[in-house]
Amino acid sequence: MEYEGQICRAPMERSSFMLPIMVGCSYNRCRFCNLFRHLKYRELSFEQIEKELARVKEVGGNPRKIFLGDGNAFAQKTERLMQILEMIRRYFPECEEINMDATVTSILKRPDAELEAFYKLGVRHLYLGIESGLDDVLAFMEKDHDQGQAYEAIGRLHQAGMIYDAHIMTGVAGKGRGMENAYALAEFLNRTRPAHVVNFSMFLHKEVPLYQNILDGSFIPASERDNLEEERRLIELLTADILYDGFHDFIEFRVRGRLPKDKERMLARLDKVIAETPEAEIYSYVQGECPALERCGGGSVWQTA
Ligand code: SF4
Repeated sequence: MEYEGQICRAPMERSSFMLPIMVGCSYNRCRFCNLFRHLKYRELSFEQIEKELARVKEVGGNPRKIFLGDGNAFAQKTERLMQILEMIRRYFPECEEINMDATVTSILKRPDAELEAFYKLGVRHLYLGIESGLDDVLAFMEKDHDQGQAYEAIGRLHQAGMIYDAHIMTGVAGKGRGMENAYALAEFLNRTRPAHVVNFSMFLHKEVPLYQNILDGSFIPASERDNLEEERRLIELLTADILYDGFHDFIEFRVRGRLPKDKERMLARLDKVIAETPEAEIYSYVQGECPALERCGGGSVWQTA
């Protein structure tokens, strides 16, 4: 199948068979996100999906893990998603888990019996864009949830037997609020206990609504050093058993490990990179599609545009 858009999935899904069931993101409103903004959302037909399953089977594929794309696949209509899951089970009865991205509201809109039915059909990991621990930041970024809703959705998906993994984003609260966000997010993650936390750290794009906020001064971006310091404080505060993976692709730094076992090693790595990262403002800036990165330091964030 010819893939449209940008492949975006958690590192834990690297070895999974990526099966697109739609193009784009049905939500597509988060202010910072440019992943699918250029695409018109549409569902792929059952014929297209089945053709891809047949193709993989014909070449001898027998995936144990399947990741359904693209953004927010869990928001598909119940009957359609169930038919797709049943089709997967017909082609690959040995598949052990079917995973996908979800928004909080895509969980809340479903009754408990439906969540349990999805579990029985093989759904295991749901990746939620938690991003921030602060309600005003979630509202500003036009996420489709607040903290109260996220607690409720995670409680219900756990009850149905599914596993929750959190995507977070250092820098999302903007300049000067990194520590506040770290405290709030640590409390949220310690209480909700995701299996994995992936920090994709904030990237700045010109093609998203957040750019206008940067131009009019209503959002002042945090620098890469701010983001590292925020991540250090967050990791320091995390007490739950979590597999943590933090990416700062712009400065080519990654910190990962099992918490709390590896905490001291991870903090030491962060201390080292913080000491090596200049205090001058350096921002992660993406021009065009990933990974076309351009370095930008000092003065206006957009001076090299
Ligand atoms: S739900 Fe995910 S993919 Fe969709 S707009 Fe928000 S961050 Fe982007």
